[in-house]
Amino acid sequence: MRKNFLPFHLPSLGAEEHRAVEEVLRSGWLTTGPRAKQFEENFAGFVGCKYALAVNSATAALHLALEAIGVGSGGEVIVPTMTFAASAEVAIYLNAHPVLVDCVPDTLNMDPAAVQRSITPRTQAIMPVHFAGLPCDMDAILEVARACNVRVIEDAAHAFPSSYRGRTIGTLGDITCFSFYVTKTITTGEGGMIATDNEEWANRMRIMSLHGISKDAWKRYMAEGSWYYEILYPGFKYNLTDLAAAIGIEQLRKATQFYQARARIAELYTSSFQDLPEIRAPKCSDGMVHSWHLYVVQLEPTRLRITRDQFIEKLREQNIGTSVHFIPLHLHPLYRDRYGYRPETFPNATAAYERIVSLPIYPAMSPQDVQDVVDAVRTTVKENRR
Ligand SMILES: *Cc1c(COP(=O)(O)O)cnc(C)c1O
Repeated sequence: MRKNFLPFHLPSLGAEEHRAVEEVLRSGWLTTGPRAKQFEENFAGFVGCKYALAVNSATAALHLALEAIGVGSGGEVIVPTMTFAASAEVAIYLNAHPVLVDCVPDTLNMDPAAVQRSITPRTQAIMPVHFAGLPCDMDAILEVARACNVRVIEDAAHAFPSSYRGRTIGTLGDITCFSFYVTKTITTGEGGMIATDNEEWANRMRIMSLHGISKDAWKRYMAEGSWYYEILYPGFKYNLTDLAAAIGIEQLRKATQFYQARARIAELYTSSFQDLPEIRAPKCSDGMVHSWHLYVVQLEPTRLRITRDQFIEKLREQNIGTSVHFIPLHLHPLYRDRYGYRPETFPNATAAYERIVSLPIYPAMSPQDVQDVVDAVRTTVKENRR
């Protein structure tokens, strides 16, 4: 058994990130400026979208996206229940109603049939979340959206880099939101990016990300006056600092290398668990690039004498850190009490919640770390078979 604890996640930050941050510190310009602009350009080039806007979180990105398309009072936004708090809360910020939908048992991605059934005349947006980094069934979701004339805002917090039938995530829906939170596939500590091909929404989101202030307005009225600005709307404070963007630029350069390291770990896990019927390994469907942000196994409860919580505890005793993605939204007090959802409203997500365990998967893991996870999972399964 390993001697020291293997954390569930560690970021990969090297000399390049240190140097980049030092340069920003020395420059004296710490907040949004040339680095943020460079990061946006590099990111747009990487995913192949027309406009990229750097912001200080994916939550901010999702809020700006829903605001830009006009989500508001009385509207509805369709969100999977198998996601993080951020996906649905942004609809509530705008006084809209988050309408939760169940997942497909195998992929844990939102079920397009459930999306179709949840459409009403009040639906304003559908928010696919590419769970763990595996793209949702986007053809089906985009078809429902087109037929009902509603927008598709993707929560791609896990899906960098991912692709769907040859199309990079960031080029499919109307607006796509990425996260650079510390546990995500690339990080700026806190940060996010918005990708869209729509100029009007891109402009709206840029203005709203910085207090609703129009830079064009002062250009129009005062050629020389850099102190002048005009407040057009009640905006937010969602800009990304150059300090963070400098880290992002370096992380983006390493994104493919990081992806390859995670894909190798995923492959090793999957082949190592193949002979264990007690464990259902995650699969990547044909035509998909799975970012492998998360590696979520599903336990077969009928084949084990221990619960998921005990399974996690046994791994912890063997010095392996794990996590659970996610406690479905409908099981939280907010959604249960305010919106009246019950465990049985979403049978797939409720059942999955009892089975899921996220194993460590990040480039900073050594081959021995990966082997230690495999050994701990195999030992735990073998000692607790029914
Ligand atoms: C991490 C995460 C977010 C939020 O990202 P932040 O950058 O922390 O705001 C949103 N959605 C999902 C699915 C996430 O996992």
